[in-house]
Amino acid sequence: MKNEPGGNRRVDSEPAGRGDALHSRMHAWSLPIAVMAAIPAAAAAGLALEGTASWIVASGAAAIGVAATLLASGRAPSAMQQQGDAAGASAGEHAQDHAPNESLLRRAIEVRSAERTSLLESLVDAVMLVDAHGETRFANRAASEMLGEQVAVAGTRAAIESLPPQVMRAVQGVAAARAGERRRIECELRDAESTPVVIVVVSVKNGGDDLAAIVVRNVRAEREADRMKSEFVAKASHELRTPLSSLCATAEMLADGEITEETQRAEFARIILAETARLGALVDRMLDISRIESGMARASFEQVDLAALAAECVNEQQNEANRRRTALSVGRASAGAIAAADRTLMKQVILNLLSNALKYTPEGGTIRVEVDIDNLSRSVVVSVRDNGLGIPAHAVPRLFGKFYRVENHERVAKGTGLGLNLCRNIVESLHGGQIGVDSQVGVGSRFWFAIPLEHAGRKAA
Ligand code: ADP
Repeated sequence: MKNEPGGNRRVDSEPAGRGDALHSRMHAWSLPIAVMAAIPAAAAAGLALEGTASWIVASGAAAIGVAATLLASGRAPSAMQQQGDAAGASAGEHAQDHAPNESLLRRAIEVRSAERTSLLESLVDAVMLVDAHGETRFANRAASEMLGEQVAVAGTRAAIESLPPQVMRAVQGVAAARAGERRRIECELRDAESTPVVIVVVSVKNGGDDLAAIVVRNVRAEREADRMKSEFVAKASHELRTPLSSLCATAEMLADGEITEETQRAEFARIILAETARLGALVDRMLDISRIESGMARASFEQVDLAALAAECVNEQQNEANRRRTALSVGRASAGAIAAADRTLMKQVILNLLSNALKYTPEGGTIRVEVDIDNLSRSVVVSVRDNGLGIPAHAVPRLFGKFYRVENHERVAKGTGLGLNLCRNIVESLHGGQIGVDSQVGVGSRFWFAIPLEHAGRKAA
């Protein structure tokens, strides 16, 4: 195999005994055509070439196939005129004598072929074409990257040998299979990372040859997403079970008439109310997060004065701060800190950060809110500073994940471990902003978020 200008790989050797006109004329283009015809079939098998890409490949393969057949049958000129092919063969260029038309058509096919090969080379899935003995005819760049450079060497079995044995069994079956028949294999590569892959083997008939197109997709990201979903369900169920158990036990005691004293009954009723509220908050947060992550939630943008909003939130939390003997104030508020944002969601984020600061700052502490304009990033930055417990460095990367709580903090205050994740979703996914924390154990924390002054084409006042 050698690389042609324009990245078009061809096979040098021609199988003996196939001297017919069609075959000799098709020789130069047969490889890409076969692969191109096979790829949409693999895509249809669920192997995810993007819809548009597979349409381009399919239509291109069909066009080249038609042109090559016409060329072989000698009906090329008029047919091509009718097609009005855009690949260099304009109607005016069609001369009446056969030879120039043939070279024109040959050129048009080469151009198309090179285009399709470039498309194959640009795919992130590994695509290979092998014969029924497993010898390589074609391998795209992704195949070399995924399986090693050697798989691109034509005429060797390096590609098939780098894949699990069930792929070879599927390839051996192509002789008996109908064109387009396919087999889907889920397995792991024999590389150091045991990369999980989905492989589709499609039977391809090219002239008299039985070939197999092999498409290999790395599905590590999908597997990881599945794992995270299962983990989320497991954690959510666990979090829901705790308040439910407490509710159940308390209600049972009331129902059994075990509690006779009126004050005790009232206390149990309060427990039920508190646990119900906790359960409700947990479910609400889970729904809010899933609505944002699934793209269902939309922010409704307006000009929001974040300094004024921060002051409003501080006022609302003042009673709670007094109850905890914590000094809560707006420390610094830049004038003109106006961003295009969703007011309700911004308030939710600030209140969440304030409530956390209050929860994790022991009595006698200080909490300050600051609102600044960062001219460099053209954003408004809101910070909530406390001199509370602080967060150990190892916990910081997980802090904005779902259901994460710093060990020991569970004893300090109740929580869901979802508040910061919701804040991150609101700030980053819905507003294109950024959220973060600087913290030191025993010294305190500064939680901050930045909202762009202009968002999605909206300008701040
Ligand atoms: P929770 O409902 O548990 O507060 P969050 O997602 O809001 O959930 O916070 C996750 C964890 O981050 C908390 O459980 C706590 O351990 C830690 N945390 C959040 N804010 C602070 C803070 N101001 N100081 C110290 N730790 C904090």
